[in-house]
Amino acid sequence: MTQEDIRDIKTLLNAPKKIVIVPHKNPDGDALGATLALEHFLKKQHHDAVVISPNDYPDFLKWLPNESNILKYDSQLDTCNTLINEAQIIFTLDFNALNRAGDMASALESSSAVKIMIDHHQQPDDYAQYVYSDVNMSSTCEMVYHFITSLDDKNLIDEKIATCLYTGIMTDTGSFRFPSTTSDTLRVAAFLMDCGANHAEIHNQIFDTNSYDRMQLLGQALSNLKVIPESRTAYISLSQEELQEHNFKKGDTEGFVNYALSLNDVVFAAIFIEDRQQEIIKISLRSKGSFSVNEFARAHFDGGGHINAAGGKSETNLKSTIDKFISILPSYNKALNND
Ligand code: 5GP
Ligand code: MN
Repeated sequence: MTQEDIRDIKTLLNAPKKIVIVPHKNPDGDALGATLALEHFLKKQHHDAVVISPNDYPDFLKWLPNESNILKYDSQLDTCNTLINEAQIIFTLDFNALNRAGDMASALESSSAVKIMIDHHQQPDDYAQYVYSDVNMSSTCEMVYHFITSLDDKNLIDEKIATCLYTGIMTDTGSFRFPSTTSDTLRVAAFLMDCGANHAEIHNQIFDTNSYDRMQLLGQALSNLKVIPESRTAYISLSQEELQEHNFKKGDTEGFVNYALSLNDVVFAAIFIEDRQQEIIKISLRSKGSFSVNEFARAHFDGGGHINAAGGKSETNLKSTIDKFISILPSYNKALNND
């Protein structure tokens, strides 16, 4: 984002505006933390701001400040469409292609609002008038901190905003352990703590609120873990029956793929989760080192993301999706054995 962009946005935000803020479908801690922080920031400046999520999200995010104000597009269609049509500004956070907003994409596309993208994924589309895109950022929440700072409004960051932003930085960096964590990230996190973010409580709300069913589902996932040593790859699958047996709820499989990646000498991990309702297999991909799962997801599974964390989907059944994955792997053996 240029100095001129910042000047334009400052002018745009000079008088109260109708603003819609959108995270990606199935929003995670970063997407929700960023949208809620921005909503709170804009409301403090007397804008009429609302967060519209394409759909629901896991219970472990349902404690975030002002979370109960979030509208859900799939269950509040008319209200949301009216707000989108009337919006003067739309912020899209933590995604960079309108199809990542699911069924909301066409409403966003046809809206005449000024669009502002803040995002850290690879290869942004060009639907927004103002684009703040930086693939080197740990999280969209870190970028929202920089965005607020560049508007000269750092002093407006209060406990609520800090809590939301800290949550997204913590979740997207795997609790500050992924290579995307820089010394700047830690300085931002430290500043947010100074503003009132309670790191121990936030960690507890996100990671230590598991249900017994979720732990049992993790047990199932781990017993389904397979390793392909020659490709330094491990994968997990979960069928609809296995999910049902453990009373699966949205978010229960979050982080499971990291167990596959934690194996010694594994640099590429995948999880395949059957979703019979949407008739897809949802795929999460992770890597260590230089192997780009973003490229892999784009090339084979209609997805994308970051170099070390990406996702995608398949419209064939669980077995044939896994068969396809296994058949593709040998062509990557050289890259996977590079590090
Ligand atoms: P996860 O595997 O945790 O769902 O997602 C990992 C990363 O990949 C996140 O940054 C997420 O936004 C991105 N991602 C997940 N699924 C998709 C997808 O279907 N398409 C694209 N373009 N990105 C995805
Ligand atoms: Mn993110």
